Amino acid sequence: MNRRDFLRNAICMGAGAVLAPLLLADRVEAAWQEPVPFGVPVRETNLSFGPLENRTRTDAIIVHHIGNTNADVSAATVHAWHKANGWSGIGYHFLIRKDGTVERGRPMDTVGAHCYGENSHTVGVNIVGNFEAAWPEKAQLDAAARLLCALSVYYGFAPQKNTIFGHRDFNATACPGCNLYGLLPALIEQAHTFYMAGG
Ligand SMILES: [Zn+2]
Repeated sequence: MNRRDFLRNAICMGAGAVLAPLLLADRVEAAWQEPVPFGVPVRETNLSFGPLENRTRTDAIIVHHIGNTNADVSAATVHAWHKANGWSGIGYHFLIRKDGTVERGRPMDTVGAHCYGENSHTVGVNIVGNFEAAWPEKAQLDAAARLLCALSVYYGFAPQKNTIFGHRDFNATACPGCNLYGLLPALIEQAHTFYMAGG
């Protein structure tokens, strides 16, 4: 781990400490065990992909929901759906399950398949559910705020309304659902609070 990665970790562990001070020791250990220093525990899914390209720049994060079901679907399930579309594999980089577990999707530095016209410079985060009809779990929102902070630090921008978007900001879609879209400003604010607390 080089000094810059160490500092990135330190910043986002600071954010985690604000959220859950009693878990700080666990979070430090988890972060050090990560293959990519990141500051948020990510469940590895070891999915196999077809050809992928690396992004050359990353300046925004786009938030999605599943939409066609409110079930607690896994990254492996979405991977199978997207492979059936003829894609290289799951189009999102991260999925946040109903219990707040963050699962790895497409490798985080590769071009995703989640938002037409914007994939070359963005990270795709899917919060699992149908938020046209249901509401996200608190555990999902907590995890999302930590992940949005960590990704922003990692890629070198602040989490705010001109760096974090809902899918519907770019394409003609209901995604990420009216309920989650309505919560997005508060979610960005929470991520920004973590970001400022760590910086
Ligand atoms: Zn979407």
